[in-house]
Amino acid sequence: MKISNGTVVGIDYSLHLGDGKVIDASEPAEPLTYLHGEGQIVPGLESALEGLSAGDRKQVTVPPKDGYGEHDARGVQEVDRTAFPPDFQPQPGMELTAEGEDGEPVPFVIREVRGDKILIDLNHPLAGKTLFFDITVRDVREATEEEREHGHAHGPEGHDH
Ligand code: ZN
Repeated sequence: MKISNGTVVGIDYSLHLGDGKVIDASEPAEPLTYLHGEGQIVPGLESALEGLSAGDRKQVTVPPKDGYGEHDARGVQEVDRTAFPPDFQPQPGMELTAEGEDGEPVPFVIREVRGDKILIDLNHPLAGKTLFFDITVRDVREATEEEREHGHAHGPEGHDH
């Protein structure tokens, strides 16, 4: 069976940003499982997997616009040191989560600490990055009716949420 909309796909993957240093990967024998065509993985990867079958391997290069988007300069903001707890030691590169107006989680990264001012970046950490995936397709099957209704894949034990 080939990967197309409405198939449930299991892939082993690893991701690097051009230097070969793996920053994310599936666990051995635990493929990432998703319902194809629902935008559950980055668009550039999803379209590159179309038509592959179990056992196929592929290297996929995804430009920012088909990955996590371009880096938006408006997402870089200066905030007062006092916005953080007094005993907190901000360090460049820290990934944190703030609470938005409606209580939703807002992830951000600390870029710079300039005395009383802290430069934060609200972009996705992978925004503006070209993504290099190594993919092995492990499994392709037809989605069940229930999975299609829900718009996502279910685990081997069936409904698990
Ligand atoms: Zn479900």
